[in-house]
Amino acid sequence: MTSNVAYIGLGSNLDRPLDQLRKAIVSLSSLPQCRLLGQSRFYRSRAVGPADQPDYVNAAVRLETGLSPIALLDHLQHIENQQGRVRHIRWGARTLDLDMLLFGDCTMTTPRLTLPHPEMANRDFVLQPLLDLTPDLSLPDGRRISELRRQCPDNHLVPLEDA
Ligand code: AMP
Repeated sequence: MTSNVAYIGLGSNLDRPLDQLRKAIVSLSSLPQCRLLGQSRFYRSRAVGPADQPDYVNAAVRLETGLSPIALLDHLQHIENQQGRVRHIRWGARTLDLDMLLFGDCTMTTPRLTLPHPEMANRDFVLQPLLDLTPDLSLPDGRRISELRRQCPDNHLVPLEDA
């Protein structure tokens, strides 16, 4: 089996967000052909997009997977649906958002899947959890996650244990 290392970003700001993330991590760790290699700390961040939304809880996990990127995306969307995610407004509140941030060195732009995730470089709530998992991580184009984190706008990110 060829395997790749994928990084998944998790976010929730509805219905007990920390429980949503914990439950999603259990589901991710039991996906077929996948092994959970690590999980970041949990963070609280201010919502991007429409105002008057509750803060988010964010985290990331590192998975070894024998699945293809699209098969993994299918599983992520199934987990989102199982946890009651309803898509109302773009960037609106949600019970669970799972983003495929990186999949090995894969780069692709298709209607369903863009890799690396197109927004990740501007989001401290994505970059900091990635640094927890792999401090020397780089994008496929060689840019270092630690450097992107230094340049990234501030979303009032706080580790939950300090909140
Ligand atoms: P969002 O509402 O931000 O979670 O976006 C969900 C949509 O983004 C889905 O229709 C996916 O097919 C698409 N998408 C494109 N690239 C990715 C990615 N790297 N990870 C997750 N969803 C993606």
